[in-house]
Amino acid sequence: MALSPNPIRKSLLASVAAAICVGSCVLAAEDHAAPKDAKPAATLPPLTLQFEADERHYTLIAWLHWIGDRDPQELAGARFPEEEMLEKHLAARELPEEMRKRHRQAYESFLPECDLYVKNGLLISASMGYGQPPAFDAPPLSSLEPSEQARCELSLAGLPPVELPPAKLMAEFYERATLHDLWERHMKQAHVQALEHYRVRAETIAQETYAFLKVPIDAPVSLCVNLLGNFGILGNTIYSPWERRYLIKLHFTAMRPGAEKSEVDYFEANYVRVVRHELCHALLNDSVRKQQHLLAKSLAEMGQALQLDWMQGAHATETAPEWVADCMGYLDLEVPLHENVACYNRNPLYLHFVEKLPAFRASGKSFAEFLPELFASFDAKKEIARWKDLLAKKKDAGEVRAGE
Ligand SMILES: [Zn+2]
Repeated sequence: MALSPNPIRKSLLASVAAAICVGSCVLAAEDHAAPKDAKPAATLPPLTLQFEADERHYTLIAWLHWIGDRDPQELAGARFPEEEMLEKHLAARELPEEMRKRHRQAYESFLPECDLYVKNGLLISASMGYGQPPAFDAPPLSSLEPSEQARCELSLAGLPPVELPPAKLMAEFYERATLHDLWERHMKQAHVQALEHYRVRAETIAQETYAFLKVPIDAPVSLCVNLLGNFGILGNTIYSPWERRYLIKLHFTAMRPGAEKSEVDYFEANYVRVVRHELCHALLNDSVRKQQHLLAKSLAEMGQALQLDWMQGAHATETAPEWVADCMGYLDLEVPLHENVACYNRNPLYLHFVEKLPAFRASGKSFAEFLPELFASFDAKKEIARWKDLLAKKKDAGEVRAGE
C-alpha cells in the first residue's frame, strides 16, 4: 500500500531524522528486539557475532547510487575506492532511459513526505525486507509461524510502515547492471576485508555490552559493513523474521587523504559506539517499548515547559528506544561532553541515565528489569530546570535556536 501523508508519522520521522542527523542510526520498521520479557540469566550464553558481506544490502546501496538523491555536502566528502568503482561500473552499463524513469518513480514514491536523510535511511535500513538475489522476493508475512508474526507486529508498534520498492525492480536492476559480477570480482572481498580489520574490536565491545546489559538474546546477530557511501547514517539494526536473526549494518566513513591518525582513531572509536548502540536495539528495543509509557507524562510536561516541538506529542515517547540506544552508545563518554549528547542528539534521557548508572550497577538487575525504575524516576520538574539551564547555555553560545 502507498503511504499517505500523516502528521503523526511525519513527526515520528522527524524525530528519526534527528537521530540520523547526529549520525547514530535509523530506527527502521523492522528494527526491534526479542518479544519475550527479558530475564537476567545467572550465566549468559556467549554472544557470537557473525561477520558477513551482504549482497542484498550492496544491491540496494548501488540502486541508490544510480537512482536516488544525495546530499551535496555528503557527496563532497572523501570516498572509498569501492564507491568510485561502483559508480564507474554503473555509468558503463548505460541503462536505458525508460528503465531509469520507472525506477526513479519507485524511488520518488517511497516515503515522499520525508526528508532526504530519512527517506534514504529507512530505505537502507529496510533492505533486509527483500529476499536473496537474484529474485529479491521475500516470503509473505503470513507464511511465518505465529510466534514470528507476533514478533513482527511488535516490532512495528509505533513505527511507520514502509513499503519497499517492488522486488522485481531490484531484480531487474541487479541483472541489467551486472551487479553480481562486480560483487564476486571485487566488492565481496573488499567488504570482508574491512570487517576483518574491525573484528576484534567489534567482538570485544559486543561482549562488554552484553555483559553490561545482562539481557539474553534469542537470535543470532550478524554484522556487515558498507563501504559505498554512508548516506548520513553510521549504523542500523533490523530483525529478519525469515532468517531469525538480527543484522547490524555499519556504514563506514572514508577518510580524506592525509587524515591525521587522531582523526582515524576518532572514527574508529565511533564505530565501536555504533556497535554498542545497535546491539542495544537488538537486545532492548522490545523491553523499552513495553515501558516507554512511563515517560509520557514527564515528556509532555517538559515539551510544554521548554517549548520543544520534538519533545511533545505521542511521537516523543515512541522515540524512547532510540534514546536508550543513544545512552548506551555514549555510555563511557567523558563528563564534560554529557550535555552535548543531551542537547545535540536531542536525548532527554541521557543526563538522567548517567545519574542512574550507579543504581543500576548496584541493583544486580538486568537492564531490561531496571527500565521501569529508570523511566519512573525520570522527574519532569528536575529535568525542566536542568534543560532550561542547558538550553540557555547553548543559546548564549549561539549553538541552538528557540524551539530546537
Ligand atoms: Zn538507533
